[in-house]
Amino acid sequence: MVLENDSYTIQGISVLSLVEKYSTPLYVYNADKIKSQYDSLVSAFGGCSLKVKFACKALTNINIMKLLRSWGCGVDTVSLEEVELALLAGFTPQEICYTPNCVGFDEIQTVIEKGILVNIDDLSILEKFGHTYGNTKPCCIRFNPHILAGGNPHIQVGHIDSKFGISVYQLRHLLRIVENYNINVVGVHMHTGSDILDPSTFLRGAEILFDTARSFKDLQFIDFGSGFKVPYKDEDYYTNIQEFGAAMSTAFKEFCREYGRELEIWFEPGKFLVSESGYFLVKTNVIKQTVSTLFAGVNSGQNHLIRPMFYDAYHKIINISNPTGTPRVYSVVGYICETDTFGWDRKINEIREDDILCFYNAGAYGYSMSSNYNSRVRPAEVLIYNGKDYLIRRRETIEDILNTQQSVSFE
Ligand SMILES: *Cc1c(COP(=O)(O)O)cnc(C)c1O
Repeated sequence: MVLENDSYTIQGISVLSLVEKYSTPLYVYNADKIKSQYDSLVSAFGGCSLKVKFACKALTNINIMKLLRSWGCGVDTVSLEEVELALLAGFTPQEICYTPNCVGFDEIQTVIEKGILVNIDDLSILEKFGHTYGNTKPCCIRFNPHILAGGNPHIQVGHIDSKFGISVYQLRHLLRIVENYNINVVGVHMHTGSDILDPSTFLRGAEILFDTARSFKDLQFIDFGSGFKVPYKDEDYYTNIQEFGAAMSTAFKEFCREYGRELEIWFEPGKFLVSESGYFLVKTNVIKQTVSTLFAGVNSGQNHLIRPMFYDAYHKIINISNPTGTPRVYSVVGYICETDTFGWDRKINEIREDDILCFYNAGAYGYSMSSNYNSRVRPAEVLIYNGKDYLIRRRETIEDILNTQQSVSFE
């Protein structure tokens, strides 16, 4: 989004004109930004055989999944429903991987029968897999290397009491199961959680994964999950993808030489690909001055963007209706009957009632985590592609909320 002559635009389209056309609250995505993020990742690993699997739980609109597929991206799914969406978006089973956690074995079987590679993150599931399929189906093993990185405790998944992955300390037990059933392990995987602060932490995890990889003779790839950090604040540290790619490629090639074979290197970014492409637009309903605080209350809440309340996430907020207004300090809050604060003590150009506020970094875990709490309908989604705006999901109506309810008459 750029500011030209006091007006914010995306690919030349006025954002306020989108608000007029589609109303608020509204999610808007800039396809150019998704493409440039994808391209930068691909170019950072120029020397390796790279596969990128979009972690679609970040943003599951099938139009966006279709676009990513058209650029050569694969997809990482965490549920049968995401698998079904990915197939509908046109991904072949070979382009999809499935990384479930605490999912029933019946669901895992359903996905495997579709020809999709499963990432196994539990010893008991591995037993069931071996018992059912022996060596007739390939699988990947998700390890937990127990590295701890930055970010909110809610999104750290690498710690010792995390529910994710098979601990690297359980490798011997795991190998016994693999040998017993002659399981065909084609990949090893780690996903240590979002917001890994620096490449050296990531490389430490990679070294641990290389160590475990040496125990498997028939690997085709190593999947390093995600953990790429994107900037939320202007001064934020974020992953320099070119530097990271160079360091990681060197380590990976060295491992492949020692392993004796060129393997594929996989990543599963969610946030990195889509976070910065997204903007969430809301209208200011009330300006409320209390004895201590100046509130701007907007026509949305944690039902539409839960990250600030759920993860204590920071989303930059600007007033696109008054870009030259005198900055004042506001708490921007939602209309939900809970304490739903989007941002505390934010310096924002003077907000007047009916002004349109814009939240940054709304592409990842925005719409996909939204709900109908307070029986509010969910927003529309618009994609800007090649200088044109496309409605890729209409706003819900009360009928959508009633759709699944049965009207029962009580005698
Ligand atoms: C959520 C998830 C990702 C993506 O994480 P981001 O922080 O959005 O990049 C990747 N892999 C797995 C297995 C995940 O569950």
